[in-house]
Amino acid sequence: STIITDENRGYDRNEVILRPCFQCPRVCRWDVVIGEGRHKGKVGHFNAGSEWMDTFYNLGFKGNDVLYLSERINDLGIECSHFADGAGLAFEAWEKGLLGPDRTDGLVLEWGNSEATEALLERCARRWGWLGNLLADGPKELAQALGGEALNWVVHTKGGTPAQHEWRPLLSQMLRELVASGGMKPQGAGGPEPPPDLRYREQWGPLDPSRPEGWPRSHFLTERFRQACGLMGGCWFALNDKAPDGLKSMVDSLNATTGWDVSLDEMLDAGHRSIILQSLFGTRRGWIADHDWQDVGPRFLEPIPDGKYKGFTIAKWLPDMVYEYYRISGRHERSGRPFRDTLTKLGLEEFSEWSQLD
Ligand code: SF4
Repeated sequence: STIITDENRGYDRNEVILRPCFQCPRVCRWDVVIGEGRHKGKVGHFNAGSEWMDTFYNLGFKGNDVLYLSERINDLGIECSHFADGAGLAFEAWEKGLLGPDRTDGLVLEWGNSEATEALLERCARRWGWLGNLLADGPKELAQALGGEALNWVVHTKGGTPAQHEWRPLLSQMLRELVASGGMKPQGAGGPEPPPDLRYREQWGPLDPSRPEGWPRSHFLTERFRQACGLMGGCWFALNDKAPDGLKSMVDSLNATTGWDVSLDEMLDAGHRSIILQSLFGTRRGWIADHDWQDVGPRFLEPIPDGKYKGFTIAKWLPDMVYEYYRISGRHERSGRPFRDTLTKLGLEEFSEWSQLD
């Protein structure tokens, strides 16, 4: 049986058509025809992940308003987290009197106001007006324009935005979001134990979720095989690294389709190479690793205000966790630049001029 909560009220009236990727048993993708309420008859086309749903749950919506607005944001081509963190800041600024109708062209930015949110989506997509233009720039720019306390309310990571789930109680996921290149898809977030296929040489865990020890290593390992999965055109959702033969089957499928003879360790090196190339892209544009914990919207690092994890924050262990992550991935902990021997090991010597020399 299905428990119909307030968040998914009305979903039981919808027509859902599953549209999985070819022969994949995970059956992620789905279409919907909304079957009730003011959006009755509207259609939606969605995939797995559900950050796009949390985008609108986080803005105070429930039920089929969430599916309707998710389809709108997809149609407009706006990245969900980028919009959610900007709009959330605007709503909070409205609630606390820092933003008024003079700068919203009359929109009333109350949580869960569907008409206002749909209008904001349109304005953001077209950079219409003061607020639409700033929402398109991003939450960091909006906070700077609002000034005052808004600088403390904003969520961003280096001007990019973390995926719209509640990551704050989860050290590995938080580390992943912080060290991801702003605006790029974060990868990684390791589990408390190594994948069974790598336990012959990864002998650690189970890690304590309330302590920082071991999580940078776990994250870096997961980041490598997830990058490798993406490089070969695989799908994260279908990759079950926690099952015996989970990682090996990823490598087997690559070898079966290409005729190559790639090992799991070579795949991890390919993932490592991809990580370094992405950070070199940032290095060449002025990024340093210290930005990962210094250029972060304060709300993202605040202690959790209530509930089971009240008071918890990764900030207690920053920058140490960030530093450790860069050290074990062969980069300087402050600059984020790869050491020369890291480049040599990965066959990336052509980027030596961007390496860390000491
Ligand atoms: S797990 Fe990946 S490949 Fe399978 S249906 Fe989901 S998105 Fe498609």
